[in-house]
Amino acid sequence: MAKTLLLKTTPNFSQHYLYLRHPSIILYSPPNVKTSCFPQVMAMCSSFYPLLPINFGNKARPIFPFPTKPQSLVRFKAFSSQADTSTTKDDIPARIGFLGLGIMGSPMAQNLLKAGCDVTVWNRTKSKCDPLLSIGAKYKASPEEVAASCDITFAMLADPESAADVACGKHGAARGMGPGKGYVDVSTVDGDTSKLICQHIKATGAQFLEAPVSGSKKPAEDGQLIFLTAGDRSLYEVVGPLLDIMGKSRFYLGDVGNGAAMKLVVNMIMGSMMASFSEGLLLSEKVGLDPSVLVEVISQGAISAPMYSMKGPSMVKSLYPTAFPLKHQQKDLRLALGLAESVSQSTPIAAAANELYKVAKSHGLSDDDFSAVIEALKARIQDKK
Ligand code: NAP
Repeated sequence: MAKTLLLKTTPNFSQHYLYLRHPSIILYSPPNVKTSCFPQVMAMCSSFYPLLPINFGNKARPIFPFPTKPQSLVRFKAFSSQADTSTTKDDIPARIGFLGLGIMGSPMAQNLLKAGCDVTVWNRTKSKCDPLLSIGAKYKASPEEVAASCDITFAMLADPESAADVACGKHGAARGMGPGKGYVDVSTVDGDTSKLICQHIKATGAQFLEAPVSGSKKPAEDGQLIFLTAGDRSLYEVVGPLLDIMGKSRFYLGDVGNGAAMKLVVNMIMGSMMASFSEGLLLSEKVGLDPSVLVEVISQGAISAPMYSMKGPSMVKSLYPTAFPLKHQQKDLRLALGLAESVSQSTPIAAAANELYKVAKSHGLSDDDFSAVIEALKARIQDKK
């Protein structure tokens, strides 16, 4: 069973955490933590996993993609020899704010609540807060008020414009930030937007982490997201346990902009894959094959991908229940093309895929799942709205 060992070195959680977990044990050490305590840490660990390697992750590089989600947490106060096998509210470090309760934000905030966190929420459309309020979340009327009342504020907004507005606008989160606080933007935006938000947050004395996620609605519900983080390393260490509640793995990628870039590259590939898959499904049908069989054949070969197996059966039935809205996939392709342009990298496949998503959007499919891009290839596409 995977275990997490968390060592508090001072009562001020925002500065000093040693964070150690199995299967591949990672020891995170803020620069100001004395390494003289490591032997004690290792001694405590060895009672669980005597043969596991220890990795001191201090450089700006991918830290570690945890292969499995921890099923339970085991935490120790530093220098304590007594195990506390229950996860108490004391172990959860902060008052947490969550801005943006869409398809992704809602389940992420819900998982924090379920884990016992003190969560305060805000959403532009207030009614979307209600399910979370009913299970114990608090509510504030603006991003500014959320940030002012919380230690760590997460934001999960639609696009660069909304992410910047919620962070930097009138009554935006930055107005409630200050020293000792942290802002974690998990929206998918471009690097420039992320840097702009970072600037506004850091000007207040607070810390900033960009942490876009890979994984869709179901992984968000199951706490199986992958976080692609960059920015303040010490904030990354502080929020690690929170990211682990919402996700199965996390990467620290260095300077602000790197997380955004990684996310855009991933979604550029995904958008092209889905467009190509759509062409294949329609071609197979046109030549008299059963597209369901194509889905099955693909699932058994080298080009298999969970995405094809998950989306294929409903695409064959022309059903597109929304997990990842098509408008967001097109936004990500647009941003990825901008990224490619900025370094003169040729991306003809992604450019062609982007055009297809634009056609789908123009036919009213923006809020359908991105797999509805297949409709853009059909001979007699009907406007949905
Ligand atoms: P969503 O369901 O469309 O939710 C978008 C959120 O942004 C809502 O809370 C919405 O508020 C808010 N919002 C939009 N415009 C706003 C504005 N001008 N001011 C304030 N709030 C605004 O999207 P989602 O699927 O949760 O995705 C959120 C982000 O995660 C996007 O960047 C997306 O690309 C990324 N992402 C999505 C997935 C996925 O599978 N869905 C996976 C990975 C990453 P209202 O409720 O008031 O509209």
